[in-house]
Amino acid sequence: MGRLIVVSNRVGQPDQSGGPSVGGLAMALGAALREYNGVWFGWSGRTVETFTGGLSVQRGQGATVATVDLEEQDRQEYYNGYANRTLWPLFHYRIDLSAYERSFNEGYARVNARFAQTLLPLLKPDDFIWVHDYHLIPLGRELRRRGVKNRIGFFLHIPWPARRLFATLPFHRELVEAVFDYDLVGFQSEDSLSAFEDYVEREAGGTVGPNGRFEAFGRSLQAGVFPIGLDTKAFLEGAATEAASAWRDRMRVSLAGRRMIIGVDRLDYSKGLEERFLAYEEYLSHAPEALEQVFLLQIATPSRDEVAAYQEIRARLDAVTGRINGAFATPDWVPIRYVNRSYRRDELAGIYGVAAIGLVTPLRDGMNLVAKEYVAAQPPEDPGVLILSRFAGAAEQMGEALIVNPFSREEVSDAIREGLAMPLKERVRRWEALMAGVRRDDVDAWRDAFVSALRAVPQRELPP
Ligand code: UDP
Repeated sequence: MGRLIVVSNRVGQPDQSGGPSVGGLAMALGAALREYNGVWFGWSGRTVETFTGGLSVQRGQGATVATVDLEEQDRQEYYNGYANRTLWPLFHYRIDLSAYERSFNEGYARVNARFAQTLLPLLKPDDFIWVHDYHLIPLGRELRRRGVKNRIGFFLHIPWPARRLFATLPFHRELVEAVFDYDLVGFQSEDSLSAFEDYVEREAGGTVGPNGRFEAFGRSLQAGVFPIGLDTKAFLEGAATEAASAWRDRMRVSLAGRRMIIGVDRLDYSKGLEERFLAYEEYLSHAPEALEQVFLLQIATPSRDEVAAYQEIRARLDAVTGRINGAFATPDWVPIRYVNRSYRRDELAGIYGVAAIGLVTPLRDGMNLVAKEYVAAQPPEDPGVLILSRFAGAAEQMGEALIVNPFSREEVSDAIREGLAMPLKERVRRWEALMAGVRRDDVDAWRDAFVSALRAVPQRELPP
């Protein structure tokens, strides 16, 4: 049986299942590589004076990790530039933040070509290649140009944007044409798949057949929805550790009878943190009974701080939390506990476990694993309530949450009120349904569904 070759911008530590790394990707792929005799290939995160294509290879338990160094110019143009300043904002519906510079485009093309060139000698004819995320959309094309006939799948961890937004990207057609060099393309949600479908049919003049067969640019691919899940088993083990239980105890003392609302996010403009704080302020303004009785703990882990838009959102959040706390706090209570650091997943499990509400209100999110972690960390006999943005991929699977429009302060404020007042019986009913989904649709199910779909596509004949 062919090996699984996973390619992503950065590689993780496949021998560890949790850990302090921020972002759902490392956790998910670690599980995939332990299962198959895999190779994980990506950028080392280091830069060197001149690109050599030299690989550094580490063999671990059941998986090999191979990394390559890039140049500083690559980091600026490909990673900070095209990936994080052009595609990330656009794919999260923030065309106002999207920067289009030719040098970014060139850096993106160059690094994808470098990845293909470096990966090529590692490949065997029966390997399956699974490429991850927006950093590497043209990698399939670069591999095909070098004669690779293997089955290649691509999974997009972030949303695929609506057609009219996507069309604002210079060279949008070329990017979609490159997608058609993959055999299988996976999205997080129906919303993303149908946006892609809309583009293929109406902008590229292609067709979409039954069973997810897409045709355009004289080629065809298979596309589908593969919602990523938690490494639920590892997460529950983390929630049962001493560290988690120490945090539950510590937080209970700190609650002193008050009720806690929790948010945990990378500090990213897509997470809707400012809107969340304003909605919470709206709630406080209309719920005098909540003053001194409720607080919001927001863990917001700094991220991509070389990019100006991230420095700006951070400054805005500093200001808005300061203003709200100044306006509402009393000598022994603050309404928002705002924390800019990161916690290990077992610690988070303990903290989530004592929160009456999990407040997950991104303006756009591919999936959102925090929503699933909050559910997994709840005590079955007295579970809290999940409030979830309809614009997170997770909302398609988590209909028993209180689903909100994160742009509406009043709607989020109402949901907070409803969540805090929800009777135990209804909390248990909703939680049981959500938890069954978190267990069933876990990361193993995601991986197996994608990999078996990739194995099922016919191997393509390349033109001579
Ligand atoms: N996370 C963490 N420590 C922190 C904050 C977040 O380990 O201090 C983890 C969190 O547990 C979750 C992931 O980061 O697994 C965030 O994934 P999500 O899908 O919610 O958002 P992303 O950051 O990938 O956009």
